[in-house]
Amino acid sequence: MAASAPSAVLDPTSLSSVSDAGGEEEMPAEHQVFEGWLKERLDRLGVAVAGIAVAQAEAIRVQAELAAARPPAGYDRLDLFDSAVAGEVAGVMRISTGSAEWHLDFADQVCRRLPAGLGALAAGVLDLPRLKALEHATAVLDDADLAGRVAEHVLAKGPRAHRAAFTAACRRAVIRLDPEGAAKRREERCRERRVWVAPEEDGMAVLGAFLAAEDALACRARIDEVADRNPAGKEKADGRSRDEIRADTLVDLIMGRCGQPGPVGALGADVQVIVPIGTLLGLDGEPGELAGYGPIPAAVAREIALRPGSTWRRMLTDPRGHLVELGERRYPSPAQRRHAQARNPCCVFPHCTRRAWRCELDHTRPYASGGKTLVENLGPLCKRHHRVRHHGRWRVTQPRPGVFRWTSPTGRRSEVRPHSYLDRDCATVDRADRGESDRSW
Ligand SMILES: [Zn+2]
Repeated sequence: MAASAPSAVLDPTSLSSVSDAGGEEEMPAEHQVFEGWLKERLDRLGVAVAGIAVAQAEAIRVQAELAAARPPAGYDRLDLFDSAVAGEVAGVMRISTGSAEWHLDFADQVCRRLPAGLGALAAGVLDLPRLKALEHATAVLDDADLAGRVAEHVLAKGPRAHRAAFTAACRRAVIRLDPEGAAKRREERCRERRVWVAPEEDGMAVLGAFLAAEDALACRARIDEVADRNPAGKEKADGRSRDEIRADTLVDLIMGRCGQPGPVGALGADVQVIVPIGTLLGLDGEPGELAGYGPIPAAVAREIALRPGSTWRRMLTDPRGHLVELGERRYPSPAQRRHAQARNPCCVFPHCTRRAWRCELDHTRPYASGGKTLVENLGPLCKRHHRVRHHGRWRVTQPRPGVFRWTSPTGRRSEVRPHSYLDRDCATVDRADRGESDRSW
């Protein structure tokens, strides 16, 4: 153990005198001594850390030379040189041969593809975990020059405030410099989606979440049940594998998209996709961001932002990353949906009896025309009448919450009123005043 701290730090009265001291007052001599002691240790720590980085960089260079070494002709008759080198390195580093092989490969990759990263380690700009993050992020790139460009792009802004930020910057740079590859890799990985249950100790199991085993199995059974009900699940008509269908079913169940009654939980969740404006317009390949996840390929961000029925809140940013527009929530919250369905339990098209829970929620004044997502501007319309209403020259207003006044293309008028929980009526009232002007209409 090094020399202990001066006793001043243990004396509470001396500490309180620091906080009471005015800005201009001179620091007591013992405090200056103590600060000097602190500073000397911090300087020594800095020198030690920099020395470690220099030594690590040197170890990586030597490992890379060993990894690339080729013996002279006749030296390695059994073709076991690489294994022998890994064994020797394992002995020197006191690690397993498997770890030694990993170190040799890592060093080889870094020296060949990321010389700037290695230089940054030697210079004390990066620590080893950051260099590993850079190597990991660029490992997907077949093109060594491209990997090098990613390294330079990331290093231009230094090591970032913490490792997670540096890792995100690496991923972002890979997407930015290789947008097509990123989109392709995402598509390939997406085909690996699946749902699984893994048994754990003490009556527990993992279904993505850590659950009681019986709950995990019940969830899996429910996913299978719903997936099997999907005709595509049996026929594979849409080209998805059974694993893909189960994964999609899990998402649909949680998001309330299985066409079943009951609360549609996740529609109310406020989840954000951050999309640069050029990406949204398809002008460039700047990566987007999912709040709580990190960078995503431009094509994926664009698809999420423009997907019909998306539950993501869209945040548009300018090229500096500053927010220029926060998307208004277009989709009703679960509470709004329940309210509108309870107020008008049937499709609000005249004389339609389709139950509201099987209907879509329509913005009476269309969202695109400035209609707000408020219960007084929402009403259930079955799929067919939703289409009729938007494409069939019918006009509708909602003068009071739950009251829908319709004018047909031929001028016939009807009023659909909210459900009365007293007389259990869900009424359409036809108006005979065809063609007459009616200011209240
Ligand atoms: Zn209807």
